[in-house]
Amino acid sequence: MNYRSTRNSALKVTSAHAITKGLSDEGGLYVPESIPQLSKDEILAMCDMSYADRAFEVFSRLLTDFTPDEIRHCVNSAYNDKNFDSDNIAELAKLIPGTYVLELWHGPTCAFKDMALQILPYLLTTSAKKTVDGKQIAILVATSGDTGKAALEGFKDVDGTSISVFYPEDGVSQMQKRQMTTQEGKNVNVCAVKGNFDDCQNGVKAIFTDKTIADRLAKNNILLSSANSINWGRLAPQIVYYVSTYAELLKNKEIEFGEKINIVVPTGNFGNILAAYYAKLMGIPVNKLICASNSNNVLTDFINTGVYDRNRKFYTTVSPSMDILISSNLERLLYHLSGENDAVINEWFGKLKTEGRYEISADVKAKIDDLFWAGCCNDDETKAEIKSTFESYNYLLDTHTAVAAKVYEDYKKATGDQTKTVIASTANPYKFSGAVYEAVGGTVSGDEWQNIAELEVKTGTKMPAPLAATKDKAIRFTGTVEKQKMPEVVCKFLNS
Ligand SMILES: *Cc1c(COP(=O)(O)O)cnc(C)c1O
Repeated sequence: MNYRSTRNSALKVTSAHAITKGLSDEGGLYVPESIPQLSKDEILAMCDMSYADRAFEVFSRLLTDFTPDEIRHCVNSAYNDKNFDSDNIAELAKLIPGTYVLELWHGPTCAFKDMALQILPYLLTTSAKKTVDGKQIAILVATSGDTGKAALEGFKDVDGTSISVFYPEDGVSQMQKRQMTTQEGKNVNVCAVKGNFDDCQNGVKAIFTDKTIADRLAKNNILLSSANSINWGRLAPQIVYYVSTYAELLKNKEIEFGEKINIVVPTGNFGNILAAYYAKLMGIPVNKLICASNSNNVLTDFINTGVYDRNRKFYTTVSPSMDILISSNLERLLYHLSGENDAVINEWFGKLKTEGRYEISADVKAKIDDLFWAGCCNDDETKAEIKSTFESYNYLLDTHTAVAAKVYEDYKKATGDQTKTVIASTANPYKFSGAVYEAVGGTVSGDEWQNIAELEVKTGTKMPAPLAATKDKAIRFTGTVEKQKMPEVVCKFLNS
């Protein structure tokens, strides 16, 4: 099975090529040319499998140019009890009968990005062996917090790779900064930038397109690559946990085969919810995909009106990983819904670039109405949701998952739908302890460890070990640079 580009349907590449390149040359995203189907027997067989074995089944169908041994190596290296604090890799908590929370944060950085970034290094090195054999892969990441740490943990000490992460000096939480600056591993570099996230992102983009740097690195046999969320190697692993969850619900006799479920996803770049859409296309019975946004509600408006308009105020919220106005992965959805129409994708995304706005056709809008429901909530509503969920169910939500839980309540009120529902939980609450503590009635002090200690007492929950461990780890990376110096930092780190 090959992959096509959303901006040039004539282009066909292998999955290894798509994963090594990340983005197609003309700016399109790689999508599968056909969707493999999971039969009833195949889904039922997964009930008795481990997470790694379920992942093996899904990847075997999506990455057909990988050998079974290669896929086995990838899934076993990523999804084991050394990297995850749960044998199930993802846990399914039941809030009330029919409402489940899919905890995707049992990995080393306590956010759902681990689900993909633990396996991406193996998918990428396996792909590179097929496409650019013998090259060292140097990953560059600009991060506003979660992605940087998850990528560092994924790539640390993986043979044939190195990773450089840039974060805005004052643009990440204390915990996120400590997680990154204490990072272990021989092949990692972390650097703060004087500027905001956009400066970091633009700096990284400039390095990617700099021919002189590429030549210098090529002399040392090094190829730059990206770990960001438009890479198919990040999306495919996310499909796995939706398939796995359906098998888990069957196994636990929560549903019967064929019964449809709703999936609610707190959304930023549209990657996580798009993975749920692919799971549906592969044969998982899904009723509605519910797209939840914070005050940056560009997707809510889009799904409700068919107009995508990024010309709006940007809000800094208590759910920072969803503070996004351009949801890149939406392009893949629109490509499929428009009948693989690359011309119309070029038109819409060209308009997004020049005018910051585009409007989809009525037939694509009708398909979106059928598949999705969308809602949003602000910071006060997010915190109220954390409080009420804790009081009602003794379950502590993080700020991102709380957005999803609130939007799901709005959905039920608006539709009366009683379909069993899975809420994707994207972070452990201790990653955002200040806002969570405040939400449950605490008074936040400037000392994060004090807030955490008080949150533990107040809620009877425990901060996860990987976060607690950062307290005693030595700070390894103290550098802060002007954004113009980013290329120098990369070349020096890569001895080029
Ligand atoms: C990245 C992230 C999101 C948003 O995920 P997308 O795939 O970009 O939609 C939500 N919550 C948390 C905690 C995240 O780190």
